[in-house]
Amino acid sequence: MDKKLPEVEKIACDICRKEVPLSEAKTPEAMDYVAHFCGLECYAKWQQDSETKDQQGETDKK
Ligand SMILES: [Zn+2]
Repeated sequence: MDKKLPEVEKIACDICRKEVPLSEAKTPEAMDYVAHFCGLECYAKWQQDSETKDQQGETDKK
C-alpha cells in the first residue's frame, strides 16, 4: 500500500519571493494579472506599487 503525502502546491510571493502554500497565499481578485502574496503586508506593498505604475502609465498614453 502506497501512502502518498498530500502534495502541497507552493508558490513564491510576488514581493519577497518567500514560498507559501497556495492555499495560504493572498491573491487579488478581479484582475487580469494573477499575483500571489505571502501575506497582507506584501499585498499592500504590491497595491502601492501598482498604483504608482498606473500613475506613471497615464503620462505615456496618447
Ligand atoms: Zn511576501
